[in-house]
Amino acid sequence: MIDLCVLGPTGRMGQQVCQLALASTGIRLASALERRGANVVGSSVPNSTIRIGESLPEALAKADVYIDFTVPTATTLTARAALHEKTAAVIGTTGLDEEAQEAIDELSKVVPVFVAANFSPGVSLLLHLAETAAAALGDDYDLEVVEMHHRHKVDAPSGTALALGRSLASGRGLDFETARQSTRDGQVGPRGADEIGIFAVRGGDIVGEHTALFIGGEERLEITHRAQKRSVFASGALRAATWIVKQAPGRYTMSDLLGF
Ligand code: NAD
Repeated sequence: MIDLCVLGPTGRMGQQVCQLALASTGIRLASALERRGANVVGSSVPNSTIRIGESLPEALAKADVYIDFTVPTATTLTARAALHEKTAAVIGTTGLDEEAQEAIDELSKVVPVFVAANFSPGVSLLLHLAETAAAALGDDYDLEVVEMHHRHKVDAPSGTALALGRSLASGRGLDFETARQSTRDGQVGPRGADEIGIFAVRGGDIVGEHTALFIGGEERLEITHRAQKRSVFASGALRAATWIVKQAPGRYTMSDLLGF
């Protein structure tokens, strides 16, 4: 039995993780922690055995592993606290800044840490296919990524779109940060041959869609992944939590879990 701590249990993802954990036989929801002032009334975290609002060290100390779908500042604070409690981590928060990445790297020296911008198996395969297609089609095809998410998403482009861009850059042999083009507005001139465009659409309740486009002079290949339910990410995160507690200290991601 694995003891789990969930951060942000009233968030869109946190609620899904709690519900699946409560229904699971191999995972016990040991603790859950919200930010101060969060509205927990009406959230679908019904279990009276968890107390929302313990201190971070207390909540982490009760768990073998924590799952984090929050905001980058919370990711940094939690990774630093987990270093002292030696709690393994599954981190799905996106838009992570340098500070958060450093805190995660430090934590991964002591415990196993799983970090994924997307926990769906389909997206892992998409990243793999995109890299293969970019390499196979070669320089005659322009590479672009379009992603769509719900109106509440706060970071853009999505972490998955950036990962997809990195896969395309790797397949084409480009440096992603140099190739990346996330704005075209005004007199931008013709498209550069080595650009990888990455663009975000926001609206309504779209769970998450990502398309890699390979645009040639005579044909266009599009590979699209559509997440239909948020639970696909939550079940992937729980699967990662079950797997990560058995690993040696280090940083892991979906390709390690799925073998792509
Ligand atoms: P959300 O705003 O619905 O939920 C975030 C939750 O975190 C809220 O309940 C908020 O109160 C809580 N929170 C904020 N600061 C906190 C703190 N210091 N301690 C504890 N809790 C805190 O957002 P969401 O849609 O659930 O997404 C959360 C993150 O997960 C985003 O970065 C999003 O991009 C990412 N995400 C990742 C995947 C994936 O597969 N990796 C899938 C979906 C969303």
